[in-house]
Amino acid sequence: MVFHTYLLRCADGWYYCGHTDDMAVRLQAHEDGEIGYTATRRPFELVWAGEFESRAEALAFELKVKGWSRAKKEALIAGDWKAIQRLAWGTRNPLPPHLREETGPSIPQDERNGGRVGLGDEEVGREKTVRPEVSKGSAHLKDILANNRRALAKAVTLIESTRADHRAQADALLNALLPHTGQALRLGISGVPGVGKSTFIEALGLALIHKGHRVAVLTIDPSSSISGGSILGDKTRMERLSTHEHAYIRPSPSSGTLGGVAEKTREAMLVFEAAGYSIVIVETVGVGQSEITVASMTDLFVLMQLPNAGDDLQAIKRGVMELADLVLINKADIDPDAATRAEAQVTSALRLFGEHPSDERWSPRVLQLSALKVQGIEAFWSNVERFVQLRRASGEFDARRQKQGMAWMWDIIQSTLQADFKRHPAVREALPDIVRSVNGARVAPSSAARTLLQLFTRS
Ligand code: GDP
Repeated sequence: MVFHTYLLRCADGWYYCGHTDDMAVRLQAHEDGEIGYTATRRPFELVWAGEFESRAEALAFELKVKGWSRAKKEALIAGDWKAIQRLAWGTRNPLPPHLREETGPSIPQDERNGGRVGLGDEEVGREKTVRPEVSKGSAHLKDILANNRRALAKAVTLIESTRADHRAQADALLNALLPHTGQALRLGISGVPGVGKSTFIEALGLALIHKGHRVAVLTIDPSSSISGGSILGDKTRMERLSTHEHAYIRPSPSSGTLGGVAEKTREAMLVFEAAGYSIVIVETVGVGQSEITVASMTDLFVLMQLPNAGDDLQAIKRGVMELADLVLINKADIDPDAATRAEAQVTSALRLFGEHPSDERWSPRVLQLSALKVQGIEAFWSNVERFVQLRRASGEFDARRQKQGMAWMWDIIQSTLQADFKRHPAVREALPDIVRSVNGARVAPSSAARTLLQLFTRS
């Protein structure tokens, strides 16, 4: 077994030094904010890592580095072993013998300075979320199928990497996993911050595990790609579920566009399905486009509402309501009358939008819930089961998945083509003039688009 001692650069310019026997899991824990995280000291970039044969050696080196001056740490990061020696490591504080050569520890050159971790975006202009080196074959298919947590973490890291060679490995892995996917129920859950999503998912997750399921929770948090902060990133969320051996909670990828984050989440979903998770919950906050994204990758989309939202129909956004297969009025324990009123109002709003409920076909339903008191969870689940039963019988369940698969494929084609288009040399050269002409109303946008497309397709 190999142990690593590593250095992370923190948001405030300090360095965090630690050791681990699994870099991928450890860096994920940093990213999750479980280790080394304070308001000002956020580790966010892996700047150095070295290998050791035993934990004792790795720990000893960690302690040593912790006592080093900043200049010496920076010499280590730069791989400048002469400078480290110059900076007075002496007989009192010697380096381990195998680190004394000028070449430093046995790690590939690109791992020494590379492998940035997307823990924040304090360093403007830096590329974010390039994960640490993922060694070839680290995401073993059989380990994933056997639900080995490290293999899962590594597979997710691989999927989220932006390196082209990792992308090729990830594609190969996903194709290999594909025959083992598709068995899980994909559940989307949305609601504004504070509505009780994590309280609900924890209660639901534990109840499902009790029934014999394994539960994966994935999040899509658009705030983390915009601000670097995370609405869903509260560390105390789902405390019991997150430590349960039959649950796996994966936070939102922290950079990229919503589309990019969604793509990684869709892929991660396949990894967890292949690993035998029978319920995959995709959670998002009720802001922006993320609900549409989550509804477009799940079998059933649940919208959580607060009782008082029913008093103000403006709060019921038609577009989002129309996506909902189930609406939950949470915190019904606080004011049962308000919850009943809200239930009635949302039910009638849903009827305005759609059809009347009937037993043969599923129509969106509204239920009351107290996630905190764990009331209404069983009723919720029997509705989910009924939904699945009706949708499977009518063929709509499979049709929705097929539609989603196609949409996913076209999304990727579209975004890749668009990126290629924007990178195309002839397009880039012509673009500034064309933009000026369109802005100055000298060329019609449609004609400008055709000119640019011709430049793109001609070469
Ligand atoms: P999230 O931001 O949607 O994930 O919301 P949380 O699950 O973190 O819940 C926000 C707050 O509402 C927490 O203080 C919860 O304890 C509380 N809460 C959640 N569900 C209920 C509920 O059913 N009843 C009551 N009274 N409080 C709840």
